[in-house]
Amino acid sequence: MGPLYPADTLTLMTSYPPAQTVGEFAANLAAVRARIDAAATRAGRAPSDVRLLPVSKTVPQDRLRLAVAAGCTELGENKVQEAKRKSEELADLAVAWAVIGHLQTNKAKDVAAFAAEFQALDSVRVAEALDRRLQAAGRGLDVYVQVNTSAEESKYGLSPGAVPDFLRELPAFASLRVRGFMTLAEFSADEARVRKCFRVLRRVRDRALDVDSGLTELSMGMSGDYEIAIEEGATCVRVGQAIFGSRSLPDSHYWPTGG
Ligand SMILES: *Cc1c(COP(=O)(O)O)cnc(C)c1O
Repeated sequence: MGPLYPADTLTLMTSYPPAQTVGEFAANLAAVRARIDAAATRAGRAPSDVRLLPVSKTVPQDRLRLAVAAGCTELGENKVQEAKRKSEELADLAVAWAVIGHLQTNKAKDVAAFAAEFQALDSVRVAEALDRRLQAAGRGLDVYVQVNTSAEESKYGLSPGAVPDFLRELPAFASLRVRGFMTLAEFSADEARVRKCFRVLRRVRDRALDVDSGLTELSMGMSGDYEIAIEEGATCVRVGQAIFGSRSLPDSHYWPTGG
């Protein structure tokens, strides 16, 4: 699989064995949690201020059941169709589903039906579509505004400068509980460049807090960079491969490009 990855990704430095038993999932979860706690402590933060969101994209339901038995109570998915299917397959389990990838307005109905959280809000059109469906269902939804902190064209999310105006639009959508911000850092082996993305998101959040004290959350950091993210203030880290095992395809396969 090596040649499929850009040679300079941080995630390339580690390959993660797939967990195949409840015990292996429990061990991976405990190991990630221990590293989260240590990173928080190093940064002078309370470990309990950092939430671990396990990301289960591409992982089939039989293995998800093992992960839930090992203690996962919430799962993140970046594609709506896959998340919807899994939420139906695992309907007998108490799992809260987080949609963490780009949403098209025609899938808003699905998200409104099964998701507990949506972390990739980046347009008024999607906010409108979600709110309409949620109002009809009598539900609310926790949302994070996605920000493109690396200025890479292939990434979704608002530019940092567009965030204040966007936030002013959101109170019109009463079913959306805006919790904070989400980003994907640049894929780079250069730690300084990764860290810079996290700092940009933190500044966006700090400025927004002046206007709305409820916008506290920072969802940033994945398997390859979550410790850096925690040092920079992450309150939610989205970790897939370090819990479930390496994926066989490059990340570009899971993050469709374009807008
Ligand atoms: C896949 C994914 C993650 C987790 O990445 P890993 O390398 O598996 O830890 C985090 N955030 C988003 C938006 C993702 O799609």
